Amino acid sequence: MKSSLIILGCGSSIGVPRIDGFWGKCNKKNKKNIRTRCSAAIIKGSNSILIDTSPDIKNQLFSNKIKNISSVIFTHEHADQTNGLFELRPFYWKNNKKINVYGNKKTIKALKRRDSYLFKKTTDYPPIVTAKIIHSNFSLGQSREKIYFKTINSKHGKTNSLVYIFEQTAYISDCNDLSIIKNKNLYNLKYLIIDCLKLETHPSHFNLDEALYVHKQLRPKKTILTNLHHDLDYNKLLKKLPKGVVPAYDGLKLNLY
Ligand SMILES: [Zn+2]
Repeated sequence: MKSSLIILGCGSSIGVPRIDGFWGKCNKKNKKNIRTRCSAAIIKGSNSILIDTSPDIKNQLFSNKIKNISSVIFTHEHADQTNGLFELRPFYWKNNKKINVYGNKKTIKALKRRDSYLFKKTTDYPPIVTAKIIHSNFSLGQSREKIYFKTINSKHGKTNSLVYIFEQTAYISDCNDLSIIKNKNLYNLKYLIIDCLKLETHPSHFNLDEALYVHKQLRPKKTILTNLHHDLDYNKLLKKLPKGVVPAYDGLKLNLY
């Protein structure tokens, strides 16, 4: 069965434009420069898996016509990846079933502390999610719609972020850990979706040179740069990139299999 991945959002933690209308170096006339915060959806039949729940998740699902969510996998605990979790309440109401959310121990602990009412009954409202800790390999979905995942722990500044590998694709939205190139599971990919915050070096994200270095080492068929800050204009960035590397834009759909 065919599967696809939709880049729901490819912006940095503040998005483009910023909340006060600041576009940085991005041309506001190019729609590909409108970037919401990083999230993605993997779709295989009725199996619809969210990677992270950005603060923009409501509009991201609405504009991509995604009407159901089977489960959520989190890369890490930061606000720009998790703050939209409570927006998933309508899926619980529709299906009368709690949504399984997966993450490493630190992410689940942070979410339970911050949004305890979503995990257990503490208010007048019912909990809507069930927490699951990810240890290593796992699968989500049933029979032909099943998707197999491998995970890699990577450094993202002072915290860790999970790299997800599925359907010959790796999703690495928040990372500054060059040691990932040693991991054999990242070879022979169809798509590498990788953090590329800006041109300058950053303490917790890959910059352009580092993202291109990882691309050169891993040699996927195609690399898509994500988590793009407002100083990276889509067209100007595209012109700098070697063959096989493109910037992401919100709504970009990749056919995986
Ligand atoms: Zn982060």
